[in-house]
Amino acid sequence: MHKMGSYSTIAAISTPPGKGGVAVIRISGPDAFAVADRMFLPRNGQPLSAARARMQIFGDILLDGEPIDDGLAARFVAPYSYTGEDTVEISCHGGFLITKMVLSAAFAAGAEPAAAGEFTRRAFLNGKLSLTDAEAIGNLLEASSAAAVKLASAKSRDKLSAAMDGIRADAVSLMGSLFARIDYPDEDLGDFSDAESISLLRSLLGRLDALIESYRTGRAVNEGIATVICGKPNAGKSTLYNLLLGEDAAIVTDIAGTTRDVLERTVPLGQVLLRLSDTAGIRETADPVERIGVEKTQARMKEAELVLAVFDTARPLTEEDTALLDTLDTLSASKIAILNKSDLPPAWDASEIEKRIPRTLSLSAKGGDGASLRKEVEALFTNGDLTVGEDAIVSSARQHAGLLTAREHLSLALDAYLSGLPTDAAASDIERAIAALGELCGKSVSEAIVSDIFSRFCVGK
Ligand code: GDP
Repeated sequence: MHKMGSYSTIAAISTPPGKGGVAVIRISGPDAFAVADRMFLPRNGQPLSAARARMQIFGDILLDGEPIDDGLAARFVAPYSYTGEDTVEISCHGGFLITKMVLSAAFAAGAEPAAAGEFTRRAFLNGKLSLTDAEAIGNLLEASSAAAVKLASAKSRDKLSAAMDGIRADAVSLMGSLFARIDYPDEDLGDFSDAESISLLRSLLGRLDALIESYRTGRAVNEGIATVICGKPNAGKSTLYNLLLGEDAAIVTDIAGTTRDVLERTVPLGQVLLRLSDTAGIRETADPVERIGVEKTQARMKEAELVLAVFDTARPLTEEDTALLDTLDTLSASKIAILNKSDLPPAWDASEIEKRIPRTLSLSAKGGDGASLRKEVEALFTNGDLTVGEDAIVSSARQHAGLLTAREHLSLALDAYLSGLPTDAAASDIERAIAALGELCGKSVSEAIVSDIFSRFCVGK
């Protein structure tokens, strides 16, 4: 780990690009105060470096000795700042050019440009944040639904960290007791009997399984569910798409086969996100333009996690519907058959479909609401025992993979116990599990993982 003093002093615009009321330029590093003194002239005549920490001081921002804007500056003395280093935040007017000029002023005064995610990276390296916190902040910046914001909240992060730390701590104590037994076989150290160790390992595996399972929820909330809407022409796919989107994003028309292109949008549905592609009908067609749409649909259906198959209950079932049912049989995705146009008299018996697809939903995409579909999808993709924002929920692929590794090693350790050769074999398995968990908690993290996580941040964060 770097020592604090070994960093350069960096600066970046921390607010989003474009016009806004105010923009914030953040300067962090050992020379932050000196840099600020060279480019910010408080109106009270005292240098900013002499001002009280955290107090907003009004003054002029200088570039090449000339005032270019006025604004407020505050200094934060290490370690009491976001990065844990000496930091100055300057708020100036939020024009595109003016913020760039203020940033240039910071560079002219000796700061260096910050890399993407570098402020948060420094915060992590200075012990201000755990790796899980840093990931959650990355997610928070990208969150596109209220549930995703909750999932990234401090409370939610604390729950997850506590759950992972708890498992790790218990594994460490089991390991300690094993080592004691290996090193001092004749002593009765009174720690864990084999039976107790086995029961502890089983409980750790159960706790790991719960966390691993929670990723299904975390992923559905954070990244969304790859979803395809399919069905024959005029079944009501575009109408359903619009219902989910809540706007007229796809053109709805009465002429069969007009939904040619594959549209893609991310929409929140209750707690989860759908990554939706609205697609052309699934059927043989001679029209080359439409053909592309149909082929894309087939490819997407293979990759989808959720397929919403729309059937028109107001018109008789056709070969196209049967072909769709056959295709659905070959897919690994979760499937929901939407029996659409429930507001019209039915032309066929829905049990035809129910026989083949266990999840069916009678719906009127036109004029109906998405509530019943939302319930169905949430039931499929989230664990109902979990409350987003309240419970420990795994939300990154990195955490999920690490937990799987830990689980694999702990279950090998359990096997070793059960087969009656606990000591050496089990010890090395438990050690590997602890390493995997430690990496998750940010306790021993390789530089590669750190770089990977922080490369996801934008400059200024
Ligand atoms: P697509 O070709 O599968 O995308 O079908 P559309 O969404 O374009 O719908 C075809 C026609 O069916 C349009 O005239 C829609 O207004 C109508 N439609 C869609 N859903 C319903 C419904 O639930 N009830 C009724 N009565 N008409 C619907």
